[in-house]
Amino acid sequence: MITLPRRPQWHDDAACRDVPTEVMFPREHARYADAVAICQPCPVRQTCLESNLHEAYGVWGGTTARERRELRMGRRSLSSATPPHPAASRFPHTPAAVAS
Ligand code: SF4
Repeated sequence: MITLPRRPQWHDDAACRDVPTEVMFPREHARYADAVAICQPCPVRQTCLESNLHEAYGVWGGTTARERRELRMGRRSLSSATPPHPAASRFPHTPAAVAS
């Protein structure tokens, strides 16, 4: 018997709570913007990003897998983030100048 992981409690407040999974895991690059837009007003965005910083697929906390990798490496450009991602200040090696 396979036991699927349960969603964390904070996900109850997630903006993507009722969004089909395929929207947050787009197969086409052009669809990533739709997923990121869902994350923008999400009240648990920062918690989501911190909890999923190492996820290799999908959009989490308003970031793509590539952006998360760049955050982990401390070299993410936040120039496309509007507004600046609230988690940016938690990654001290991220250049603050590009966040505005
Ligand atoms: S930040 Fe995005 S992926 Fe994370 S819970 Fe909110 S809507 Fe879902």
